[in-house]
Formats: sequence, C-alpha cells, structure tokens
Amino acid sequence: MEKHIAEKADTMDTSVIGILGAGTMGSGIAQVSAVSGYRTVLVDIDARMLEQGLGAIDGNLHRQAAKGAIDEQCMRDALGRITTSGSLDALSDCFLIVEAVIEKKEVKQSIFADLARRVDPACILASNTSTISITAIAAAAANPERVVGMHFMNPAPIMQLVEVVRGLQTADAVHRTVIETAKRMGKIPVTVNDSPGFVSNRLLLPMINEAVIVLQEGVADAEAIDTVMKLGMNHPMGPLALADFIGLDVCLFIMEVLHN
Ligand code: NAD
Repeated sequence: MEKHIAEKADTMDTSVIGILGAGTMGSGIAQVSAVSGYRTVLVDIDARMLEQGLGAIDGNLHRQAAKGAIDEQCMRDALGRITTSGSLDALSDCFLIVEAVIEKKEVKQSIFADLARRVDPACILASNTSTISITAIAAAAANPERVVGMHFMNPAPIMQLVEVVRGLQTADAVHRTVIETAKRMGKIPVTVNDSPGFVSNRLLLPMINEAVIVLQEGVADAEAIDTVMKLGMNHPMGPLALADFIGLDVCLFIMEVLHN
C-alpha cells in the first residue's frame, strides 16, 4: 500500500483540497487553502455553519484587501476557488481532505470510515484534531497509512505553525505530501509523533487548566492572571483569554483526552 500511495502521489492531481467542518478552524483552513491557489471544497452537515464560515472568509479577505495586505484580484480569485456542499460526495476530486469537525473520537472515527469508503484510496485524510490519537482515528479507516494529523492553530490564516502528526501507520509519501502542502500554504510544518495532545496541547492545556484553578481559588482575578502571563512571561495573550478564544468546550474535550 505504501508503494501504491507513493506511486499515486507522484501522478495525482493536487489542485483540489477538501475541508470537512466549516466552524472556526474549518473556515480558517479553507481560507488559507483558497488563498494559496487550491480549489477548495468546504463541507458541513449544517447549512448555517457553511453560510457563516463562508461569510467569515469573505469578511476576512475584504478586510485584508482594504488594508492592502492582498490585492483585490487575489481576493476575488480566492473567493472564486471555494465551493460549499452538505455532502461528502463533493470531496471526490480532492487529493487531500482536512477534517475539522467536533473533537469527539467516535465522530471522527465514523467520518474517517465513511470518507475512506467514498474517496480514491490514495486521497490523503488529515485530521485537525487538537489531541485525539491519529493512530486511533486511522484504525477506523480502510488504508490507515493515508491518515495523518494536520494540526492548524487558531486563527488558521494568521498562525504560522502546522503541527504534522504521524500516526503509527502514516506512510512516508503521505507525510511528505502534507509537509509540502503546508509549506505551499505559507505555513511552517513541524513533525511530531502521535501522543495525547501532541506537543502543543500537552503543554498548553495544563497551563490553561491551572489558570482556571488559580481563578477558582481566588488567588487573583482573571485580568490579573492574564496580565501576569502577558507582561511577566511575554505571552501575547493571557491563558484565560486564550481559553475563551479556543472555546471552553474544545478546552474541556482536550483535557478529557489528556486525563483519560
Ligand atoms: P467548531 O465547533 O467551530 O466547528 C465544528 C464544525 O463541524 C461545525 O460547523 C459542525 O457543524 C461541523 N460538523 C460536526 N459534525 C459534522 C459532520 N459529521 N460532518 C461535517 N461537519 C460536521 O469547532 P472548531 O473549533 O473549528 O474545531 C474543529 C476541530 O479543530 C476540532 O477537532 C478541534 O479540536 C480542532 N482545533 C480547534 C482549535 C480551536 O482553537 N478552536 C484549534 C486547533 C484545532
């Protein structure tokens, strides 16, 4: 299979990327993908989320054009590269699909099993999971060697890092293609091995959790806690503001994975 994927990787049409989930992360990743020149198919089961996600991309790109960060033509071209759909069938032409749905292992496993049945066996299936084992997600899919972690940071259009997570069975060719794609998206990929929370959230979330406990114990109020970390540790954002930014539901899911 590794050989099959390596051979296909060299001949595949690598112009179309699919993004599954049009929430905070999915819409941000779709924006990055479209601006980088990929035809981008954004899929969500919720039509309101698709509309909201597309609206967020449109707003971001118009703001960037107004500031002169991108030119008007680039903005129009990027918007023209994005199509939306409520069906997984719209992802059939993709060489890479990045999943960014809710942080629940069973949901991701069921999506990967379904995707693996529908798309070309050489299509790379990446998860933007914050913390769930890539090996466990891959186990649900036919051809688990094409599954990899592609962990974008929030907000995806701004943050430089993509934490690339190799599951136990991730093929070298899949890893290589994902690294090249992240670079073409203007990101800096860093490869880590599969472990709960990877590197980013294994270090970040315990700190955020401790900040919540410090608040709960009345050691300091929220503003003081955030100010100590901003001015004292040179963090651009305090841990409590960052928790709100990530979403407290997402933080809880991550802590539960680390705990388990
Ligand atoms: P979100 O709640 O904003 O968006 C999730 C989207 O997935 C929703 O639009 C929902 O309708 C859609 N969805 C749910 N089930 C679906 C299905 N079966 N098929 C298609 N779409 C479906 O969540 P988010 O904050 O964008 O997080 C998405 C993923 O990215 C999670 O795995 C999360 O851990 C990870 N992540 C989040 C952040 C962050 O700061 N929020 C950062 C990095 C990674």
